[in-house]
Amino acid sequence: MARRLADLPQRRRKTSGAKFMAMQVANTALCPDVPGLPRCELYVELPETGFEEPLSGLKQETLELVRRFAREVMRPEGIKLDRLSAEEMIAKGSSYWHVLEKHRALGLEAILTSDLSPTDLVDLQSMMSEELGWGDAGLGVSIGASGLPQMMAMRWGRLDLLNAFPQPYVGCWGITEPVAGSDMLDWDRQAGHPQGSYDRPSLIATLKGDRVVLNGQKSAWVSNGVTADVCILYTTFDRGQGREGICLFVDLRQAGVTRGKPLEKMGQRCVPQGEIFFDNVEVPTRFIAAGPDRYTDAVYDILTEANSGMGTTFVGVARAAYELALEYAHERRQGGVPIIHHQNVRYRLFHMLRRTEAARALARRVARFNAVSGKRALQASICSKVTCTQTAFEVANDALQMFGGNGMTRAYPLEKLLRDARAALIEDGCNEILAIKAGSLLIDPDKA
Ligand SMILES: Cc1cc2nc3c(=O)[nH]c(=O)nc-3n(C[C@H](O)[C@H](O)[C@H](O)COP(=O)(O)OP(=O)(O)OC[C@H]3O[C@@H](n4cnc5c(N)ncnc54)[C@H](O)[C@@H]3O)c2cc1C
Repeated sequence: MARRLADLPQRRRKTSGAKFMAMQVANTALCPDVPGLPRCELYVELPETGFEEPLSGLKQETLELVRRFAREVMRPEGIKLDRLSAEEMIAKGSSYWHVLEKHRALGLEAILTSDLSPTDLVDLQSMMSEELGWGDAGLGVSIGASGLPQMMAMRWGRLDLLNAFPQPYVGCWGITEPVAGSDMLDWDRQAGHPQGSYDRPSLIATLKGDRVVLNGQKSAWVSNGVTADVCILYTTFDRGQGREGICLFVDLRQAGVTRGKPLEKMGQRCVPQGEIFFDNVEVPTRFIAAGPDRYTDAVYDILTEANSGMGTTFVGVARAAYELALEYAHERRQGGVPIIHHQNVRYRLFHMLRRTEAARALARRVARFNAVSGKRALQASICSKVTCTQTAFEVANDALQMFGGNGMTRAYPLEKLLRDARAALIEDGCNEILAIKAGSLLIDPDKA
């Protein structure tokens, strides 16, 4: 409900009749009615996603569907799953699997074939991603990683790969290795040390007739690594011609593939992670998505997609933290008043709102640019990822501070939000490496 300045209780004074009439005449001259001047609204109730313009039918309906799923399924289940061991979380019968099933049952792919304009479609995708992050960052990442191989196959026009590994397949993206985390993501060495050299890769692909043979392992950090059916795999390719890479789709249910123990970690505990081992695993060459000549392009393209997705997802985490803090500030009393009446609390809340709004605006703008401008810029996606994950971390940290001692306990959701946001500063590339890489991409080759 909007509260206006004019609605506030006015102090009453006793005034004589003649004096009152004189004042009325003066008031009419001094205070003419100005119908075009809007009343100052002291309190404006905002939509969930802040300074959002009203949405059209399909956008609003789809968003409502995802929002309900985030509120009624992801948020409560995420809190419970966070407290299980990594093994319990992925055990048969765990609610983790129900969350994935319920997400699938929403049937969100239908919007891809709707008559939404490309701009509306990408906006809606950004909004949906924010809702998933709001519900639970780990589950949101798991859902996103799950469909990543298929999404890249679609992007690259590889319907054969899409048909070979259709949607019910749970997907993952395997790129980082025990000996090469940042090095695998910065394949073309934009951030690499000029005198640096590489250790032997943890996973090597070789060619044998019409098969690619894989030996070695990916890192314990692959999201869905222990549960996925299909991996969009980025690895070193050895054909005796120096450092080369290859990107291929690998069925993880085949002989020779084994998984490590699910990883116990601090944040985003609801995304199952763990090593994938390959022992003479043979993959038909028709499952190659990008050979050595196009490998760097394939790294850039998936990073552009993933970093932009991280941006929109972690706006949701920032928003969740802001909302919780705002509510708590109205409820918690100190000094005889709700703490929102203390100046520093309002000041902090304002900056939390401002940073979340700024991050959201950037995340949506980047997603739009990459989808509809006819250009794709990794530096744009990195702007989004670095800003939004940093914002989520700072806003969650501020929210926890506002909860005082309660923020530190498991009885309140803040400590989990902070742990989830912290992991994002490393996920899909450490923010500092990404920043160096994006900075390198600003160099105009014609000028420097
Ligand atoms: C929640 C989460 C989800 C993830 N999901 C996936 C996934 O789905 N698939 C996947 O393959 N991987 C995934 N990762 C792995 C992630 O991409 C790596 O952890 C990240 O790229 C960093 O690699 P690293 O951990 O090996 O650290 P390292 O590369 O060893 O870096 C260690 C430190 O050295 C610094 N450093 C490294 N190189 C340089 C340099 N050139 N210049 C300056 N400083 C440098 C880094 O900034 C960092 O502080 C995930 C990680 C997390 C936390």
